[in-house]
Amino acid sequence: MDGMPQVKPARPVARGRLFFANPGPTNIPDSVLLATARASMDFNDPAFLAVYDACVEGLKKVLKTKQHLFMYTASGHGAWEASLVNTLSSGDHVLIPETGHFSDSWAKMAKALGLRVTLLEADWRRGIEMARIREALAADTSHDIKAVCCVHNETAAGTRLPVEQVRAILDEVKHPALLMADTISSLGCFDFRMDEWGVDVCVGGSQKGLMLPTGFSFTGASEKAMAAHRASKHPRHYFDWTEMLARRQKSFVGTVPVTLFYGLQEALRLMLDEEGLDNVFSRHARLAKAVRACVNHWSGNNGPQLFCQNPERASDSVTAVLMPEGHDAEKVRKIALERFNVSTGGGLNKLGGKVFRIGHLGDLNEPMILGTLGAVEMALSLAGVPHAKGGVQAAMDSLASS
Ligand code: PLP
Repeated sequence: MDGMPQVKPARPVARGRLFFANPGPTNIPDSVLLATARASMDFNDPAFLAVYDACVEGLKKVLKTKQHLFMYTASGHGAWEASLVNTLSSGDHVLIPETGHFSDSWAKMAKALGLRVTLLEADWRRGIEMARIREALAADTSHDIKAVCCVHNETAAGTRLPVEQVRAILDEVKHPALLMADTISSLGCFDFRMDEWGVDVCVGGSQKGLMLPTGFSFTGASEKAMAAHRASKHPRHYFDWTEMLARRQKSFVGTVPVTLFYGLQEALRLMLDEEGLDNVFSRHARLAKAVRACVNHWSGNNGPQLFCQNPERASDSVTAVLMPEGHDAEKVRKIALERFNVSTGGGLNKLGGKVFRIGHLGDLNEPMILGTLGAVEMALSLAGVPHAKGGVQAAMDSLASS
């Protein structure tokens, strides 16, 4: 035996920190990393249970709910699955307004789980018109649709969907469908109010606005969702809320990711006590505005442009940048990573090679954003992509005035 296989460095050694501008996972604050550096512990140890209970309370504050919270040792896909199998039955009809890759993936999962899915197709760049959702729900006079599944922030397109307006439509047309919201890349980045907006099931994950490693996801559930759960006949086990309610933690069928909860405790302290949720949101809004100012500047000389064409829907978590015709986004990403140690997100699904994405969510400040934008601007030059130079200055001007 020769021991561990040697791993060759994938790229030249880079000094300094990796500038991580991916739209999830995101940067993890040092204090959160340190909080997770703990020896293993029994998940029924009273010392852990006290931390756990505080985390549940804190997470409910971020979700702005006083209702139920169920957690899973799974990435966001697990919470997506939990939302569907706990509240619906095979053959039930769900309406999914299309926002991009993630609405389509949730729809694909729903179909695979035996649900009937209507995906309301829409332009990924402009975001779906609310009138289309209203029309679909108003036409459903027999109330065949059992749930409306909305992606609050479409991570692939850099657009947001106003979930509160979907609630207003449901109320207006007196439709009893459950309102579900995927908050995976909006939670802890911009405002989400589960109870006030009448969201019945919301889906979230650890590795984005919560600034934690990937490793657990969760669903908030309203009393109405719990009633639907009791009536639902979908086969399930690991994600079963009834199984969970019988346990001390009221979540997790199986081992609880204890160390992540020590990280969550610290992340919640940073968000709720040290910075304050409203300040977290205004920081995200400020950084997002600066990124958009930069990309708008680059669009001169037929350069890359904002993928989102509807400013009202622009995301404060992530900006997708559309390349000029004939230029490959992957080339720019590769140069940014290999030359400047800056990691950005790639285009997903039909946007592969056409867009790159700058994540501006989580533990991030002005110099980190400016460093990323500077490296990307250099990468555009090195890749021979036309653009107006001076995007970073436009971002600096935006930051200085906001
Ligand atoms: N929904 C949204 C909006 C996402 O951004 C993601 C992942 O990026 C998912 C769902 C899927 O989550 P995961 O990759 O954690 O399974």
